Amino acid sequence: MTINIILLGPPGAGKGTQARRLVEDRGMVQLSTGDMLRAARSSGTEMGKRVAEVMDRGQLVTDEIVIGLIREQLAGGGAGFIFDGFPRTLGQADALGQLLSETGMSLDAVIEMQVDDEALVRRITGRFTCGNCGEVYHDQTKPTAVAGVCDVCGSTDLKRRADDNEDSLKTRLLEYYKKTSPLIGYYYAKDKLTQVDGLAEMDEVSAQIAAALDGTGPKA
Ligand code: ADP
Ligand code: ZN
Repeated sequence: MTINIILLGPPGAGKGTQARRLVEDRGMVQLSTGDMLRAARSSGTEMGKRVAEVMDRGQLVTDEIVIGLIREQLAGGGAGFIFDGFPRTLGQADALGQLLSETGMSLDAVIEMQVDDEALVRRITGRFTCGNCGEVYHDQTKPTAVAGVCDVCGSTDLKRRADDNEDSLKTRLLEYYKKTSPLIGYYYAKDKLTQVDGLAEMDEVSAQIAAALDGTGPKA
């Protein structure tokens, strides 16, 4: 069965962590526009250079760019796509609806991960990831067992994102409230929305998402 879902929520809500679990547990395909944009910027292309500055400030890159990135990836979805960090504007949401219907795919669920603002600031300002396997860590709540070494793969390539500082985070939050939060009402009105408690333990969040997905599916 193929299920296509959106993970919606402010920066630091845990979308990436849950997406990775869905990839492992269900063989779904994660489409993270944030990851695609970071790949584009490190490839040094013209587009990459343009987006790097915007991203570091915490602002949104243009709809045109991210819709283009998603369009290129919408094939061979395995057990389904997880849209992680996309759509982030009403324009992107409309575009996704159109892309999916053009390719005969459905949108089965939108999972809103709810987290309060103070928790977001705490989470994001301590965050770092493994550059090799993508595992996510936190200075206080989830440090590596051995300082500087990834628990999962043993890599010492641990990185902090350039936009995970307090200034950029404030901008990212503002962008979220101004431009992305209207999508909650948009998908509620389309009967797609499920809300989960993003502050629960990671396994509990996964269980809430699983319950939402198993109660959904492509309408025959
Ligand atoms: P987070 O959810 O923690 O903010 P992401 O990795 O999803 O992180 O996004 C990082 C940055 O990439 C955003 O702040 C924004 O600049 C850009 N970005 C990612 N996805 C989109 C999108 N759908 N539309 C516009 N900009 C995006
Ligand atoms: Zn690793």
